[in-house]
Amino acid sequence: MVKFDALADKALRREPLTHDEVLSVLTSSDDDLLELVAATFRVRRHFFERQVKLNYLVNLKSGLCPEDCTYCSQRLGSSADIVKYTWLRPDQTREAVSCGVKAGASRVCLVASGRGPTDRDVDRLGPTIEQIKTDHPGVEVCACLGLLSDGQAERLRDSGADAYNHNLNTSGERYADICTTHTFDDRVDTVEQAKHAGLSPCSGLIAGMGESDSDIVDALFALRELDPDSVPVNFLIPFEGTPLAGQWNLTPQRCLRILAAARLVFPDVEVRLAAGREIHLRGLQPLALHVVNSIFLGDYLTSEGQEGKADLEMIRDAGFVVQGAGEQTLPEERLDLVKTRHRGAGTDLPPNA
Ligand code: SF4
Repeated sequence: MVKFDALADKALRREPLTHDEVLSVLTSSDDDLLELVAATFRVRRHFFERQVKLNYLVNLKSGLCPEDCTYCSQRLGSSADIVKYTWLRPDQTREAVSCGVKAGASRVCLVASGRGPTDRDVDRLGPTIEQIKTDHPGVEVCACLGLLSDGQAERLRDSGADAYNHNLNTSGERYADICTTHTFDDRVDTVEQAKHAGLSPCSGLIAGMGESDSDIVDALFALRELDPDSVPVNFLIPFEGTPLAGQWNLTPQRCLRILAAARLVFPDVEVRLAAGREIHLRGLQPLALHVVNSIFLGDYLTSEGQEGKADLEMIRDAGFVVQGAGEQTLPEERLDLVKTRHRGAGTDLPPNA
């Protein structure tokens, strides 16, 4: 049996695990699953205690995307039966945000389909972000608008956005298998731009797209290079009408192993259980709370999630507590490592070069 406790001890010391060590987690047996969860819970508890951060998605613009990401119901040519609309009005966005915050979310994620925002889109969103920050002090705003162009991250930051999400989704080696209209490097570049502008970087992956265990380790290690503050782990929702329809490759046990691998690679980083948790983890969702410290509340971008009330009950029944707005997510140990940039581009001070 893999010595999970030794891996957890290493993670507790924030020592990076090797490729083989993470692979050993992913290839471990169902018989050893509870030992794995117990070991990773030690790490989760040390850095995040029993807190669960709730995040709430608002899809500002749904469907009609010109990109061809195979996993996405909003992609070019998708015939998935999803709601499609162009940008929500500011009052509609604020109303949706208020619902999520009222239900307990301490971060709202403003998402728009498309390759990336125009400058006009960014300008239009600015006042909405400002208003959300006024309406809900302490609630974090994360923008997720696709590939960023020069200066857009800085303008989002200046409007009050706290974070930017752009997922790597899979390993660099496999990226061309899941998308041909943009590259892995494009995605890395956007996360770097967000980070450089002082936005908290959020980037994660999607499992269940036919990748190998080794691909998952590669994806996690590529994410580690970006030093994100939060890592959403999505499980493929194989929408009818997309190229990955019918790809039901995951078991609840495999999902837990993937989450455990993410926790051990990112011991002191927010690991967020994201889309697909209900349909893939099913009855094992409460067990996953012993590994991750963050989930999405309510519905996803184009599919319905578990009832928000059921999520809150699940958290309570499993012995966890919801993190309040304004409460810090990252542990003190990690905050020491994060220095928000206040020099170089976008400031009056010279760059560090
Ligand atoms: S993931 Fe984003 S860029 Fe890709 S098809 Fe979906 S909405 Fe478009």
